Amino acid sequence: MVEINFKLIFVFLLIGINLIRIYYHYKSKTQEKLHHKKFKEVSSVILFYIMFAIPSILYLTTNYIDFFNLNFYLFIRYFGIVLVIISALIFIWTHQTLGKNFSSILTIKKDHKLIKEGPYKYVRHPMYTSIFLMIFGFFFLTSNILVGILPFLSFCYLYFSRVKNEEKMLTKIFKKNYIKYSSRTGRLIPKLWN
Ligand code: SAH
Repeated sequence: MVEINFKLIFVFLLIGINLIRIYYHYKSKTQEKLHHKKFKEVSSVILFYIMFAIPSILYLTTNYIDFFNLNFYLFIRYFGIVLVIISALIFIWTHQTLGKNFSSILTIKKDHKLIKEGPYKYVRHPMYTSIFLMIFGFFFLTSNILVGILPFLSFCYLYFSRVKNEEKMLTKIFKKNYIKYSSRTGRLIPKLWN
């Protein structure tokens, strides 16, 4: 397949994922009760978007970052497409399961419920898992190390600066219930041992 086709698929998948996010953002809008360090949260999300957008735009519209092209075999690039599609399906599943409890920055909603169904039965942060998978998928698809590394590092920053606070916040609200739930689930992948 020629590069232009990979670029078109890249744009198509990126638009699709953003539309999914926008849809659930509006669908889950309800009264909020508590925010966790809103400024820090918002800035790490913005940083991630910028770190995703810059290499993506350069990849799509210029040849400035061709130097970072790893010339992957075609089957690896096709695998990247499949990985993005699978991660987008997990992304939808997590949003759908969280329902009104979803928010893009750490928030406790009015009538917030602890969700332990669907992907949350095995993993505490399946949405973050899906985003990590998406980043790997786009990296394989584009075959460009810059498109892989900048989003990966900025999402690691977002994830590590957030996940402990998220769990602390949920423990404060759901107490023993969340502690018990945490003990039998994994953070990003299912707990295979107990
Ligand atoms: N970390 C989760 C959810 C991301 S959305 C994941 O990766 O799948 C972030 C919001 O989800 C937070 O504001 C938090 O209040 C809420 N949340 C996280 N886990 C939850 C759960 N098990 N039940 C209900 N709300 C949850």
